[in-house]
Amino acid sequence: MPVLNISYVNFRNLKNASIDLLAKEVYFVGENGQGKSNLLESVYYSAYGSSFRTHADSELVKEGKSGFGLKTMYREENGSTSTLFVSYDGTKKKIEKNGKTVKDRKELINTMPCVLFCHDDLEFAIGEPERKRFFIDQCLSMYDVLYIDVSRRYKKILKTRNLTLKEMKFDMLDAFDMQLAENGVFIQKKRGDAIFQFNQIFGKLYEDITGIDGVSIKYEPSWKGTELPLPSQNEAMQILFNKREMDKVMQTTMSGPHRDRIRFMRNGTNFVPTASTGQRRLLAILLRVAQSIFYTQTTGKKPVLLMDDVLLELDPDKRQSVTAMLPEYDQLFCTFLPGEPFERYKRKTTRVYKIEKGEWNEQRD
Ligand code: ATP
Ligand code: MG
Repeated sequence: MPVLNISYVNFRNLKNASIDLLAKEVYFVGENGQGKSNLLESVYYSAYGSSFRTHADSELVKEGKSGFGLKTMYREENGSTSTLFVSYDGTKKKIEKNGKTVKDRKELINTMPCVLFCHDDLEFAIGEPERKRFFIDQCLSMYDVLYIDVSRRYKKILKTRNLTLKEMKFDMLDAFDMQLAENGVFIQKKRGDAIFQFNQIFGKLYEDITGIDGVSIKYEPSWKGTELPLPSQNEAMQILFNKREMDKVMQTTMSGPHRDRIRFMRNGTNFVPTASTGQRRLLAILLRVAQSIFYTQTTGKKPVLLMDDVLLELDPDKRQSVTAMLPEYDQLFCTFLPGEPFERYKRKTTRVYKIEKGEWNEQRD
């Protein structure tokens, strides 16, 4: 839950020291390239044991060094203090929670739930179907360990099935189809339910901020049911069977949740192609707001919000409305350029750090 402090050893350009973060809101203010996003990244990395900017841990190691370490103290819901320690020695990553080894990153779920707002979120609105699926999967993976397990299993079976198709070992397809259908149907059901719940939140939010009504998220599952929108396991197996010839020709599995589509609609037509740049940007930002609300509604817990240059791209009116309707949060981290009117968004509970060349200095009034 709220982060109390983080100690750095050779993480990106940040100085080897400890930063005190105990505040409801923490603002990082600095010129380009000083280390603001690196600070947000360190919070995220502590929370999930992975970065939102790269899969290569080696990139996080300070230039000229061989590894890095992050020690994060945070407050539990019951008021006690816990510690997360993550380190990377150049080859292996190690994660510990209160001195105990975390073997699988899924054990970190709900520890310090973070919702990140960043420029790349635009991809959720305008990007490839894969990016949109990623967003929904992330919403579910924030709290649902079973969803993580089933998704991992699905990916593994899919990979083996595709290999079987390439190697033309077609007699094995029956067995794979059964497993693929079982896990795939579970994923589709979870996605369908999540998008239904999301729509209760999202359309109203979008209308409140932009004045544009009737925007909704449409789930187009790759496997469709005959009576219900989603198929039963048997129906999914039948679909796989019917498409087998195509799969054999293409040497890959052409249907299943890995081909699901998610669209933004308004009055029955695709919203994104005609939306303006600002309207698309707001889609992305409000998806993150909805993600936070969805998380709180589902778990009863408030997330930590990490906002990387988010307000920068909005006109002054929209900035005001977005800051006025932020979701409930346990803690908020936000980056600003020095020229931005961050003082205006400050609250009594806000702490401001000036960031320069990886070093921080608290600004006191
Ligand atoms: P912007 O306003 O442009 O987003 P920022 O303050 O968010 O800037 P960051 O992305 O946090 O900037 O930091 C970038 C700085 O960190 C760059 O100067 C970069 O050279 C440095 N940096 C990134 N990775 C490393 C590393 N592994 N070792 C040393 N320095 C690094
Ligand atoms: Mg940045």
